Amino acid sequence: MSTPAEKPSPATLAVAAGRPPRAQGAPVNPPLVWSSTYVSQGVQGAGELLYARMGTETWTPFEEAVGALEGASRPALVFGSGMAAVAAVFSLVPPGSTVVVPRHAYQVSLGLADDLAARHGGTVIRVDVDRTDEVLEVVAGLDPARSLLWLESPTNPMLEVADLPALLAAARERGVLSAVDNTFATPLGQNPLAWGADVVVHSATKYLAGHSDVVLGVTVTDDERLHADLLKHRTMHGAIAGPAEVWLALRGLRTLALRVERSQANAAELAARLSGHPAVAQVRHPSLPGDPGHEVAARTMRGFGSVLGLRPVGGAAGADALVAAVRLWVPATSLGGVESSLERRRRFATESRTVPEDLLRLSVGIEDVEDLWADLAQALDAAAGAA
Ligand SMILES: *Cc1c(COP(=O)(O)O)cnc(C)c1O
Repeated sequence: MSTPAEKPSPATLAVAAGRPPRAQGAPVNPPLVWSSTYVSQGVQGAGELLYARMGTETWTPFEEAVGALEGASRPALVFGSGMAAVAAVFSLVPPGSTVVVPRHAYQVSLGLADDLAARHGGTVIRVDVDRTDEVLEVVAGLDPARSLLWLESPTNPMLEVADLPALLAAARERGVLSAVDNTFATPLGQNPLAWGADVVVHSATKYLAGHSDVVLGVTVTDDERLHADLLKHRTMHGAIAGPAEVWLALRGLRTLALRVERSQANAAELAARLSGHPAVAQVRHPSLPGDPGHEVAARTMRGFGSVLGLRPVGGAAGADALVAAVRLWVPATSLGGVESSLERRRRFATESRTVPEDLLRLSVGIEDVEDLWADLAQALDAAAGAA
């Protein structure tokens, strides 16, 4: 990595990190290499490529860039999906461990925690991550040798905001392994390693790649042993990404700062407008001064993220009518793409039962905010009229 500034800002790192060395005639972008194996004989030397399940020159620049963005001392590890990265982190604690999870974390992460506990006789403790004292009490009772504090903030899909500095400091003090799913906040919004998290995870499918065209995950850690364990898991379980996906993700990452800046501004504007709309029962976005997560987010995060929670009037039927009425917004799952999308989360039978039936999760993209608002407003009117 070659960057002129001593301590470049994240926006600069997103553009400058993971570039090939500057040599006369060298490409500005890393090459996309299609090869499953590398020429080798005898004993593999340090840093030599051998076989593409173990590491490739197309992964390295992306891993360097994401590691730099999270302020880590070593590169990230890229995985074939966000869930592959989550599964690798869950494998860091022994079978039968206690895993503390936010009640409203990403539903598949919760499902995997339950599944592992059921197989191996472990325990899953669900907490409300925005109730700091309750979580601290749970952490104080954990066995450091067999526990994982799994955090996600803001949570998916409820937008609860955890006091990550407080929770991560407590885990560190107790010697409990901690990991943060930083997908919603992005590395521009917060860097949990600096607060003492052992591992940070992203579904790179979302903001890091940013264009809804690849499925990828990453883990980031400062710790040499954890890095080695995660790498071993990736290699042995074969949870790897194809080179083209990673190349595209690095291309997408170059505009992360622009995309996040624009989508966050759009989200805050829409949240404010939705708050006053007669066809809206509730809006959740940490930017709103009255939002339960506002104070902690304002104190700990840079920006408030680009995902909104919206409960229109008319219950689940009203929410479904709204989804059916939008023309510009895309009815789809996932988030973090340049395009705005929305979905009713409880359409999935696996979504937590404490998520309201009528909750819509809106992923705000980078379109013109007036076009986004016009479409939402007409859909709200259409849905309210149909109800
Ligand atoms: C999407 C998502 C995941 C899972 O990532 P995949 O890339 O879909 O496997 C994990 N955590 C959060 C917060 C997500 O939004």
